[in-house]
Amino acid sequence: MNYEIVMGLEVHVELATKSKIFCGCSTEFGGEPNTHVCPVCSGMPGVLPVMNKKVVEYAVKAGLALNCDITRKNRFDRKNYFYPDLPKSYQISQFDKPLCNHGYIEIEDDEGNKKQVRILRIHIEEDAGKLNHSELSGDSLVDLNRAGVPLIEIVSEPDLRSSEEAEKYLKKLKSILEYIEVSDCKMQEGSFRADVNVSVRKKGAKEYGTRTETKNMNSFRAIVREIEYEVGRQIEVIEAGGKIEQETLRWDDVSGKTFSMRDKEDAEDYRYFPEPDLVAIKLSDEYIEKVRSSLPELPENRKKRYLEEYELSQKDATLL
Ligand code: ADP
Ligand code: MG
Ligand code: ZN
Repeated sequence: MNYEIVMGLEVHVELATKSKIFCGCSTEFGGEPNTHVCPVCSGMPGVLPVMNKKVVEYAVKAGLALNCDITRKNRFDRKNYFYPDLPKSYQISQFDKPLCNHGYIEIEDDEGNKKQVRILRIHIEEDAGKLNHSELSGDSLVDLNRAGVPLIEIVSEPDLRSSEEAEKYLKKLKSILEYIEVSDCKMQEGSFRADVNVSVRKKGAKEYGTRTETKNMNSFRAIVREIEYEVGRQIEVIEAGGKIEQETLRWDDVSGKTFSMRDKEDAEDYRYFPEPDLVAIKLSDEYIEKVRSSLPELPENRKKRYLEEYELSQKDATLL
């Protein structure tokens, strides 16, 4: 193939706190629709958010485990958009000052060659509710149990070059987050889901090609299939003399194809501005060191110890 694949992943992870990010409602998955809700997370006028401390602790923990710099003075921003599962019509997120910057994850190919995949940023935000589409009646019903569940979004640099690398990166990321117990990472429940950005370019080209972004992928198998399909589709378009449109796509697992959802939106479309209802969060060095000391031995270090101290084989150490 004379094309090179370029990919970057945005992973949304629901944090394992007992209560939501800005109110006391339960984060438990499932439950009768709209039973884990209150005026705050259902977006009633005049209510005020109160930051859940545990969310900050878990996000810092994730940032440290992923080798990031932690921002000392944090701010939150409003990302404005309308959707029926977002009653406030804005999501509280972090825009230009994310909690964590410049981390990395190390992945390994089958020959044991290591590669660092850089993490651009990790920020804190709130999850939206869910729309349930009834095929029977044709209605769409809104369930706000998920609205206000805390999330971190982990954005990688476009360092991935194959579907195998993408899968390795995601599996490594998932295992680290499970290890440090900040999320249950249940993909089938949407606790760990990825937006997959894919582009192709002629081998040797300096500039990246135009990317497409496929939203909310929640199985490894589907992600690999989606990447293979999308790469094939993009190459076909380019070979036929066409141009790739920067688009947001949806994956259909039954047909094994991607479909256009909308044109790509830009940051300006969201009219971000600083969230006036929350104060800045200042993190001291002592606080960050305290969180660091609560981290368990990470899989990478444990494996290294098994190899060196117990002289186990690569295979056994990896398995353990
Ligand atoms: P947005 O919110 O517009 O999706 P982000 O900066 O949050 O933008 O995420 C962009 C993602 O796309 C990152 O993971 C980045 O690595 C990836 N990316 C950027 N440019 C390309 C490209 N040309 N090809 C593939 N992936 C890309
Ligand atoms: Mg995106
Ligand atoms: Zn609530």
